[in-house]
Amino acid sequence: MSSVVVANIGELVTFEPGRPVRLGAAVVLVDGVVQWVGDDADAPPADARVDAAGGAVIPGFVDSHSHLVFAGDRAAEFEARMAGRPYTAGGIRSTVAATRAATDDELRARLAALVAQARAQGTTTLEIKSGYGLTIADEERALRLAREVTDETTFLGAHVVPAEYADDRAAYVDLVRGPMLAACAPHARWIDVFIDSGAFTVDEARLILQAGRDAGLGLRVHAGQLAADGGVALAVELGAASVDHCTHLTDADVEALAGSDTVATLLPLVEFSTRQPYPDARRLLDAGVAVAIATDCNPGSNFSSSMPLALALAVREMGVTPLEALAAATVGGARALRRSGVGEVRVGSSGGVVVLDAPSYTWMAYRVGVPLVREVVGGVR
Ligand SMILES: [Zn+2]
Repeated sequence: MSSVVVANIGELVTFEPGRPVRLGAAVVLVDGVVQWVGDDADAPPADARVDAAGGAVIPGFVDSHSHLVFAGDRAAEFEARMAGRPYTAGGIRSTVAATRAATDDELRARLAALVAQARAQGTTTLEIKSGYGLTIADEERALRLAREVTDETTFLGAHVVPAEYADDRAAYVDLVRGPMLAACAPHARWIDVFIDSGAFTVDEARLILQAGRDAGLGLRVHAGQLAADGGVALAVELGAASVDHCTHLTDADVEALAGSDTVATLLPLVEFSTRQPYPDARRLLDAGVAVAIATDCNPGSNFSSSMPLALALAVREMGVTPLEALAAATVGGARALRRSGVGEVRVGSSGGVVVLDAPSYTWMAYRVGVPLVREVVGGVR
């Protein structure tokens, strides 16, 4: 057992109901788990002490959407896009080729570096998807490697139809919901489908998600990135934990989400990196929809793992307050993963805390781009 007290906190964001922020606080963690929260003057002794020096402390970010098992990069595609070429899902296939050609150790080293970068920016809970293998062996491998660094692993064999199945989509759908799912389910907690005109239809997604549910996996869906595509209604119909992107929504989509347990996960770094209009977080919150913010870090549509930048974009471009954005990036992400004990600071929380070089959480949006994460304390898988 090793204990650490984070003391002298100017502003502590707990997201405790009714009292989301408290002043003059301290937190004690034992083996990474919060054991005590209270006034700084009452803090019990601990083996180690972190002096917040009057700075703000927030819960570790919950990044509920990432694609970190891959090889290669697509900087050239990004450059072409910034020169005016539109984003399409087809670029995923170039990452598939590079990923299939990589060794386990190459993928593992890349993954470890990306996870370390995310943690240095305050992310302590991280969902990671497969989706750049698209064969039984390559998808199984991606999930096995992801499971080495997180419990929140998602089978995304239905990312795009690989080139070798371009003339027989139905056969690929059958592969994904049959033997590929069987090989991947032991390493996965979730199954996901990319619904998009360049990826899978709503009907294909329904077959795949139902098979995943029958195999014991929870459901997540990519929908509404480039058009209102019917994916939100499917996610709500099937009781998915989260529907991700939600950039293009009909009024019926918003109404369906508001009456459901499905979280709308917004990924504003994608709109930043593909130069698209941002999702309307204000519309969703005002309708009573549960909202999360995540990065969608991947080599194509967004290669940033920065939750602080995602949060700043939400504040600047999506009509939410700094506290609403922070809630979406912490407790919202936890809800999107159906997790308790992360994304908040209360006794028993295992998501760790982030000490900021700033007097208030507001500064993450106010001093955008500046590295304000001084130290990440705790956080257990
Ligand atoms: Zn994604």
